[in-house]
Amino acid sequence: EQVLVTGATGFIGTLLVKALLADGQQVTVLSRKPRQACWKFDGRVRVIASMQELPANQHVDVIINLAGERILGWRWSEKRKAELRQSRAGLTKQITEWIARAESKPRLLLAASAIGYYGIQAPGDERELSESAVPQSIFMSELCQEWEHANQAASTYGVKVARMRLGVVLGQQGALGMMLLPIKLGLGGALGSGKQWQSWIHVHDVLRGIAHLWQHEASLPLDSAYNFTTPGAVTQKQFSSIAASVLRRPSFFPTPGWPMRLMLGEQADLLLEGQRVVPAKLAEDGFVFDYPDLRSALINLV
Ligand code: NDP
Repeated sequence: EQVLVTGATGFIGTLLVKALLADGQQVTVLSRKPRQACWKFDGRVRVIASMQELPANQHVDVIINLAGERILGWRWSEKRKAELRQSRAGLTKQITEWIARAESKPRLLLAASAIGYYGIQAPGDERELSESAVPQSIFMSELCQEWEHANQAASTYGVKVARMRLGVVLGQQGALGMMLLPIKLGLGGALGSGKQWQSWIHVHDVLRGIAHLWQHEASLPLDSAYNFTTPGAVTQKQFSSIAASVLRRPSFFPTPGWPMRLMLGEQADLLLEGQRVVPAKLAEDGFVFDYPDLRSALINLV
């Protein structure tokens, strides 16, 4: 099939495109660095630098929309917030504009989102958030709402849209290295109170989840949202103690939250006040995770 992937050169995208190529799919990749993208996939993909380069008579069956500037890292200045929005909702709008022009419409749009959609839960808040939980009015949640809304627009052209609300994705790349660093150095305990929930998923299960939605395309409604987190969400304290035992390191000192607030500002909330998200829709579909619990995921990855 003809597949268009945005964010293809990133952590999840690279693994996804390699899996799609191995499966014999014809892949077009959108990247701001076309030469590097072409090289990354040994010249086996077609690369476009913007949606304007994709002709209206190009047939695309499935779009997988992963692009977005990194959330963690740069402080969220107004300028940075605008970049985070533009690279998600802004780019997605260009995709739906292409869909409007396209002579034959894609069947399916699988769109990344994040559990940041649900906002944050204060430490000690034990509620489980399924897909029907309501979003909040803080930046991360509004960013995800705007992003999802831009993706949903594709359904007006008859394209089935499945939004994937990703938890922290654990893999060889991504946030895991940073999360394990204090523990590797023997400095690490839980962050802040340690009671905040961390909802995560192994990158291998992200790829399997994408394949699952694709395979069950016929039974998907025109628009849907799926939590992409394992059933094994843990508290920060549990995360540190499981990680420390897998890495055979001690884990006693909790890391205080305030330096992180000073350094990261609003972003610190993502780490200090987590979310307890449950994959209700994937469970309903009978999806079985290969890495449902943190210990098995970390043993596989470290
Ligand atoms: P990465 O940061 O590794 O990769 C992001 C990709 O987005 C890059 O390939 C980059 O492509 C592309 N990109 C960034 N800015 C733009 C832009 N302005 N225009 C076009 N493309 C752009 O992301 P991940 O693979 O980790 O995640 C994929 C998506 O899932 C992201 O949107 C992320 O927010 C979301 N997500 C990820 C989580 C995680 O833990 N990894 C958790 C929750 C959500 P290029 O440089 O080639 O143009």
